[in-house]
Amino acid sequence: MRLLITGAAGFLGSHLSDRFVTEGHEVIGMDNLITGRRENLAHLAGHPRFQLVIHDVSRYIGVDGPLDGILHFASPASPIDYLELPIQTLKVGSLGTHNALGLAKAKGARFLLASTSEVYGDPEVHPQPESYWGHVNPVGPRGVYDEAKRFAEAMTMAYHRYHGIETRIARIFNTYGPRMRARDGRVVSNFVVQALRGEPLTIYGDGQQTRSFCYMSDLVEGIYQLFNSPHRDPTNLGNPAEFTILQLAEQILTLTGSSSVLERRPLPTDDPRVRRPDITRARTLLGWEPRVGLSEGLVHTVAHFRDRAD
Ligand code: UDP
Repeated sequence: MRLLITGAAGFLGSHLSDRFVTEGHEVIGMDNLITGRRENLAHLAGHPRFQLVIHDVSRYIGVDGPLDGILHFASPASPIDYLELPIQTLKVGSLGTHNALGLAKAKGARFLLASTSEVYGDPEVHPQPESYWGHVNPVGPRGVYDEAKRFAEAMTMAYHRYHGIETRIARIFNTYGPRMRARDGRVVSNFVVQALRGEPLTIYGDGQQTRSFCYMSDLVEGIYQLFNSPHRDPTNLGNPAEFTILQLAEQILTLTGSSSVLERRPLPTDDPRVRRPDITRARTLLGWEPRVGLSEGLVHTVAHFRDRAD
């Protein structure tokens, strides 16, 4: 297959590019590098089945030749990034998704949208099944990401229903691993980098809020399987093992042997109190489930950041 991956220089986009290239496909990676990094794709430079095109997908996307699939992963994705880039976040989720769908229609390509657990907002149903419609504050600071992704899902379904495009929607829960930016602001990268540098671990709020952390290799496998499946309904992909932020901090301190202290910071506005995927659909339809537990995934992640800290 010949595929376009938007956001290819990002954390997940780059791992997906690796996966599809390894499987023998040809990948055109597209990124404007506002949060992605060339370094994530350096090992693919010069590969006969990979090319990187620097382009902002919120503008018209032109690709020569045939395309069999488009995986739309372009977007700022950490709360700090989308607070700093609110308009770009809204544009890539709306205009960028529209452009990518238009390209899918023109080429007759299958389209996979990288959606998010943020569509559920601060959830009143726990764990979150795909049938839950969510509890999102449209005018809060996180609304730029949540509403852009909700719009993107609606647009994807409209292209499916009206234009007959083959579409897939992955609702991705918290994912971590190598190639996250050290300062991207997400909790795993923050804590690991802080622990390795002996800086205080910044606990937002009381640290009792929960998240469920999926290692990137499991997530990539889930995306790969969903893309190749016939299932167009939104599908949660994440690891259902749920931890409080304090538990995460303690695991990272133990693993790194760090003597960093914990430091309380204010809880960001609209920070979801709990989050955990119900992955019954992915289990049933794809036979997929995560295999890498938090402690194992953290070992790889710590090794990645340790290499860079030296
Ligand atoms: N968090 C924290 N300290 C940090 C970064 C994040 O306590 O240095 C908390 C944050 O308030 C949230 C959780 O960790 O409750 C996960 O935050 P993240 O930014 O990774 O992503 P989110 O799941 O909120 O999109």
